[in-house]
Amino acid sequence: MFVGGQWRLASGGEHIDVIDPVTEKVVGQVPAGTAQDVDDAVRAARAALPGWAATPPARRGAVLAAVRDLMAARRADIVATVQAELGAPAAFAAAVHTDMPTAVMGTFADLAAEHPFEEKVGNSRVYQEPVGVVGAITPWNYPLHQIVAKVAPALAAGCTVVLKPAEDTPLVAQLFAEILAAAGLPAGVFNLVTGLGPVAGQALAEHPGVDLVSFTGSTAVGRRIGAAAGGAVKRVALELGGKSASVILPGADLPRAVNVSLANVFANSGQTCSAWTRMLVDAERYDEAVELAAAAAAKYRPGERLGPVVNARQRDRVRGYIRKGAEDGARIVAGGPDAPEDLGTGYYVRATVLADVEPEATVAQEEIFGPVVVLIRYQDEEDALRIANGTVYGLAGAVWGPDEETAVAFARRMDTGQVDINGGRFNPRAPFGGYKQSGVGRELGAHGLAEYLQTKSLQF
Ligand code: NAD
Repeated sequence: MFVGGQWRLASGGEHIDVIDPVTEKVVGQVPAGTAQDVDDAVRAARAALPGWAATPPARRGAVLAAVRDLMAARRADIVATVQAELGAPAAFAAAVHTDMPTAVMGTFADLAAEHPFEEKVGNSRVYQEPVGVVGAITPWNYPLHQIVAKVAPALAAGCTVVLKPAEDTPLVAQLFAEILAAAGLPAGVFNLVTGLGPVAGQALAEHPGVDLVSFTGSTAVGRRIGAAAGGAVKRVALELGGKSASVILPGADLPRAVNVSLANVFANSGQTCSAWTRMLVDAERYDEAVELAAAAAAKYRPGERLGPVVNARQRDRVRGYIRKGAEDGARIVAGGPDAPEDLGTGYYVRATVLADVEPEATVAQEEIFGPVVVLIRYQDEEDALRIANGTVYGLAGAVWGPDEETAVAFARRMDTGQVDINGGRFNPRAPFGGYKQSGVGRELGAHGLAEYLQTKSLQF
């Protein structure tokens, strides 16, 4: 763990094993942090706060630019680490788990320098000041991206941070701490406490010295963190689950829409909160879409293009959902709940397509977090909209239309935070976050930075 600029072991002396999901072997060990360790880290972050908050934003941006450059220089180490602890295939580990967070770090280096931290409003001067000490709790699915999406804006804003990364993927967090220190970040500005969620995570979320808790993970834990933050009247940002829809409207390019939607779901073995796990197709072209999806899914071979899921518990959970889908009447047209035949080890789940799924079925309502897509038939546009908006979530989505205008008109009626139009590209500066139970707050870009700022107005 990295506390107040020093590497140290857990005060209780315990460790957590880190397992490679491909080999099922232990690849590392990290300290199991205790409430005492969290308390030490929060004190270090508080002590460092005045100095970092008073550092000119352009100087903070320069440190983040140095972090970005070191992330780029240590690309091969980051790729190897994420491969080892998450099991991600090499190309994906490089492009998405490494280059994407490096680019995001760069956007906050720029934003720190560009952002108007002071403005004049009539006879007032309005200052945007750092919220204070941030407790960041992150999941395993995009280990470095989730960390950077919280730590980079917090540091750009002038906050100090205590990070509790996921217990399944803490090694890349250690590498990141090394990079921050090497970039010249002052001691105590960033602190890392590895450990279990109900121990170290909970201690961090409930610590009175933390001013803002930023959490990404399951809805169950997010709800508890939100309730505790409400009780303490402290700021909270929650990025929770999703059950996003890819809506293919009549007249859209069907093969492209199906292929891109499947690539979106099966990327990262389906462990993406914003994945388009429900594909909505009009009744007329539904059968054609099912055929296209089944053929495309067959190309995602486990152990090649498709990596394992993170651990045995997630593997069993995802397979359980596939079985439940079939019991409730879905037709398995690709994949299924059985282990892939030719792989002896690894937490693999086959790329699965469930057809003829009712919008209200469990597999169409709950987040599965594995390589599983459900295909739902709709009758007309109003029906499609009702189905698309018919879950408790609202994180992301896609609309495929005969033209941009039609797709945009539909997207504006969706209760969701981010929609890709006819295969629009990822934008690291676009705000990301949920409507409804997908969360509270936004990450990335200027909106992400705003989460870590509070305003003060002086009148003249
Ligand atoms: P989780 O919510 O338990 O874990 C996320 C983070 O929260 C981890 O760092 C964990 O240690 C920490 N945590 C756990 N319990 C805590 C507590 N009581 N107090 C404070 N922190 C705590 O998620 P999981 O068990 O790893 O995954 C379960 C499901 O959550 C997945 O199947 C998926 O549906 C969902 N999930 C969503 C995302 C997302 O990006 N929104 C990411 C991971 C998992």
